Amino acid sequence: MSWSLVVHGGSGVIDRADLSAEQDVAYRASLAAASEAGAAVLRAGRSAVDAVETAVRVLEDDPLFNAGRGAVFTADGCVELDAAIMCGQTLAAGAVAAVTRTRNPISLARAVEERSPHVLLVGSGADAFAAAEGFEQVDPSYFFVERRWRALEKQLKREGLAVPPRPAGSVADENLGALAHDEGKRGTVGVVARDVNANVAAGTSTGGTTAKRWGRVGDSPLIGAGTYASNASAAVSGTGEGEYFIRLGVAHRICALVEFQGMGLQAAADRVVQEDLTKLGGQGGAICVAPDGQMAWSFNTSGMYRARIAEGQALAVGIYKDDP
Ligand code: ASP
Repeated sequence: MSWSLVVHGGSGVIDRADLSAEQDVAYRASLAAASEAGAAVLRAGRSAVDAVETAVRVLEDDPLFNAGRGAVFTADGCVELDAAIMCGQTLAAGAVAAVTRTRNPISLARAVEERSPHVLLVGSGADAFAAAEGFEQVDPSYFFVERRWRALEKQLKREGLAVPPRPAGSVADENLGALAHDEGKRGTVGVVARDVNANVAAGTSTGGTTAKRWGRVGDSPLIGAGTYASNASAAVSGTGEGEYFIRLGVAHRICALVEFQGMGLQAAADRVVQEDLTKLGGQGGAICVAPDGQMAWSFNTSGMYRARIAEGQALAVGIYKDDP
């Protein structure tokens, strides 16, 4: 049995003209590094869930992406992180929303799945669970990236809102995440994998949307909306305007078309993203993998950071619509 893995680093306004040559190279290198980290886990015969967690952690630690370090800021100038992980073999799932101190929210989501009787923990309760479970807790300034702060200032001005004070202890290090691109308020990371035992898994991690307010939570940590996995159909991770993904149940909808209508994976992803999501007025994309090894991605934005790799197939990395 062979393995396969697909990665995304967010969708949005990502045109060739927007990215400098250095940014282009940096994003491709980061996507390749995360893919290779996940592929190494699968090559070693370990589970799809392990591969998803490993690859998402690489992207969370990378300040280029809106997840973990490099996450976007809320209107209050805080970082509130969301993540979910799901195993297609057992339908076990774990998720966290609005956590503020956990370095790797995807691992915390996995702990919710494995070490709590619940699926979704939020806010201060999720932070307390993380501390009790011994997860690495960091000062909120760890997540700080200057370019994301500038994006917040820009967005708040656009909305006529006051700019809050910078987070205590934050350092305006122009080099950290200097190549991070503002995809228009958003971004997210996600990984789907199929292991040598033909089990699939999905994971998604995000800072949500720039200048979000009132405890806003997007689709990423909601099982069925931004993240879903079932060996009966596929594993899916989404990225885009969460409010639309929630209303359509995008990840589960793609899986349902595969399971109940017998659609091929690419056709199902295209149907939901290009037709249903577009018709509703939402923007974004999804990556998918099926237990039989099919891989797919689909997005209706100008770009989506993405990569795919499978046993016997070379790594392919893309950013813009016309990348292969
Ligand atoms: N889906 C994410 C959210 O709405 C954002 C993104 O993927 O760009 O929180």
